Amino acid sequence: MALAVLLADYQRVPGGLCASPSCGRPYLDLGGGSPRRYCSARCATRERVAAHRSRAASGVR
Ligand SMILES: [Zn+2]
Repeated sequence: MALAVLLADYQRVPGGLCASPSCGRPYLDLGGGSPRRYCSARCATRERVAAHRSRAASGVR
């Protein structure tokens, strides 16, 4: 059941919007690889660094 929902979802949206708030560009997910959240490796790296910085600023234990 969940698989059918996933397949329908993928057919409707062959890609997505970049998860980076400062980017937000649509990207195409051509499949075959791991699921993507960002339009490019540059965005993925930037968001990873930003998340790391915000964690450090708020004081992670
Ligand atoms: Zn992006």
